[in-house]
Amino acid sequence: MPYDDQLRSKLGQMMHGGLNTDSEDRAYTSERVNEVVWRLKKLAPDDWEQKLVIAGFTVTPYGEIDEISQSCATCMYYLKHRKYCELPELDCPVEPEWSCILWRI
Ligand code: SF4
Repeated sequence: MPYDDQLRSKLGQMMHGGLNTDSEDRAYTSERVNEVVWRLKKLAPDDWEQKLVIAGFTVTPYGEIDEISQSCATCMYYLKHRKYCELPELDCPVEPEWSCILWRI
């Protein structure tokens, strides 16, 4: 199985396994974004569990802003053809229905 598919599957298993993430404290202000990004940058590249926790990942869309569901599929960092998050501090395969607190349109 290609690396991206393996990692996407692993991340999904971690979240479906009941991992508690900080999904309620959304990064709607630049101060909050900077704080989350700073915490992500301090992690080891392979510390996927803490990345999911700090970035507040969910396996379903979070909610709506201006009637647009907050999911990877609607996020500016999402690469549709690769099912991938290109935000440098995450830089990981995702599913289109997942979401995180760094969602941006
Ligand atoms: S930044 Fe966007 S594409 Fe990346 S995980 Fe968060 S919602 Fe998904």
